[in-house]
Amino acid sequence: MRFVSVVPPKGFDTPCYVCVSHTYNEDGYLYKSWKVEAEGRKIKEPFYRFILQAHLGWSEWPKGLEVNHKCQNRACCNPAHLQALERSDHKRVTNTLRYEPRNEAARLHWMIHGCTGTELAKLFGVSFSAACRWIREWKAEDQME
Ligand SMILES: [Zn+2]
Repeated sequence: MRFVSVVPPKGFDTPCYVCVSHTYNEDGYLYKSWKVEAEGRKIKEPFYRFILQAHLGWSEWPKGLEVNHKCQNRACCNPAHLQALERSDHKRVTNTLRYEPRNEAARLHWMIHGCTGTELAKLFGVSFSAACRWIREWKAEDQME
């Protein structure tokens, strides 16, 4: 396999390591197939997970854990940029980042128009409960200031 180093992303000391000799799947992730000789079967797993597992010295990957790319670069295999997270935590981290720009626009709208969760959900394409959570967070932040 061939890798290139990409300039360190903001907030990181080390560069992203990106494999350039293999193709990524349509979600932008690199999977690798391994043949388990002893068992005579083939397994397929995300390459970055294999790297992190080796880096942590785990003999197998714990059920329920997922790999979070702290650098936001799905192609990255630098163990310093990877983090094992519980599935629910991973989802929360990913959603926070994914919704951040929309969240800011929604906050502006809410500050100006004082709209409800239902309206926000419809306008910004998120679930009603997500919209209500945003509003709760904004109210809490306002009280802190
Ligand atoms: Zn990275």
